Amino acid sequence: MRIRVDSIGCRLNISEIEEMARSFTASGHRLVGPGEVADLCVFNTCVVTNMAARKSRKIIRQMRRANPQATLVVTGCYADLSPQDMDAVGADLVVDNQDKDRLPEILAEQNLLHDADPIPADDAASFINPIINSVEGGHTRAFIKVQDGCDNRCTFCIVTVARGAGRSRTLADVVAEVNRLTMLGYQEAVLSGVHLGSYLHDQGQVEGLYQLVKTILADTDLPRLRLSSLEPWDLSPHFFDLWQNERLLPHLHLPLQSGCDATLRRMARRTSQAEFASLLETARAAIPDVGISTDVIVGFPGETEAEFTDSINFVEQMGFSKLHIFRYSRREGTAAAKMRGQVHGKTVQTRSQQMHVLGANLEEQFRQKFVGRTLPVLWEGNEPFGFGLQWSGLTGNYLRVVTQTDDQTNLRNQVTPTQLVDVAPAALHGQIEATDSTGQSDPMVIPLLG
Ligand code: SF4
Repeated sequence: MRIRVDSIGCRLNISEIEEMARSFTASGHRLVGPGEVADLCVFNTCVVTNMAARKSRKIIRQMRRANPQATLVVTGCYADLSPQDMDAVGADLVVDNQDKDRLPEILAEQNLLHDADPIPADDAASFINPIINSVEGGHTRAFIKVQDGCDNRCTFCIVTVARGAGRSRTLADVVAEVNRLTMLGYQEAVLSGVHLGSYLHDQGQVEGLYQLVKTILADTDLPRLRLSSLEPWDLSPHFFDLWQNERLLPHLHLPLQSGCDATLRRMARRTSQAEFASLLETARAAIPDVGISTDVIVGFPGETEAEFTDSINFVEQMGFSKLHIFRYSRREGTAAAKMRGQVHGKTVQTRSQQMHVLGANLEEQFRQKFVGRTLPVLWEGNEPFGFGLQWSGLTGNYLRVVTQTDDQTNLRNQVTPTQLVDVAPAALHGQIEATDSTGQSDPMVIPLLG
């Protein structure tokens, strides 16, 4: 069959749709892109904000219009919470979040999968790689779902409602997937979950994530391991010992949500200004060059001008490398939706603009710190640039880097020592340093453009 898969939302949604893509291609189906006719469409929805829900409906309608004959299957948090909305926009089948990992099997059981062109097992690996890369437009990083669901009850969060209680894959299962992806040529894997820090808590292991990272670094050859979002209260001081291994990338995404203690209490967040600041101090002492990014909500119910000022001042003090800023989005089914003091839209907009200005300054300051340094960059993709190509990639601490080469040079999925020459718009300019036979960077440069 010709199958179109797509997703919006969090890294977990991306890792789930990537896994489905690998499963469909391994069983002999062909993945097709937006411009091609599909026999089956699978879309992973998101409902974390009103905007995400609107975008989900829009993409489903587009898929239906482009593929009037296709079977359209939807899953994900929006589909799980509002199946009736899915019918209204033309979906044929809704698969709950609880069953999502078995989606290809469920479709086979319902005879919705046919005309497969089985590929001998030992060819599957070689067949998968180009398809995935070609269809997903340059993923050199694999997102690996290790955990789903969450047992916390942050008052603004609909995800914990849509995805249910925390549950983890087995350690052996995850390590096997890391080895498989390393064999496929991936340079980097990102461990993801709804509440990653609670990995194996459902199996009584409070140090589950620590054990998982330790085992992946010991039992696999994966060159670069990255952790996705971690709740600050999950990290014990010795967790940072793991970064003695350079393959664990120096990047932490620690959602703060608000920099004001009063707001944090109404959000039911299990952290405070003092605890968060002390955690960052410990992390920065343990991990050289660490990039610490965060999520911040502005306009949470009851957020007074004084609370917002407290929040933005604290965010500035913490010196994050990147801010993801969200305007509070009222979600039916959450405790916050019933709270008094819903903030006026205009006020939320103004606060969001102020936080974005701060965010841009903090990102710029973080970039400036690395001008003149040489860091390893994983090159992801390119675009035409003059008579050559402009490549884009990421350092371990999540700095975006660009470099220009002639049009014959292929940097894709390569990790190179790169001198960070100066600041470019929303990135750093990099100069790739050739390495000599012992892997040491040699001041000679790779043939650049011009
Ligand atoms: S930790 Fe809080 S914000 Fe994160 S998924 Fe759980 S309930 Fe939602």
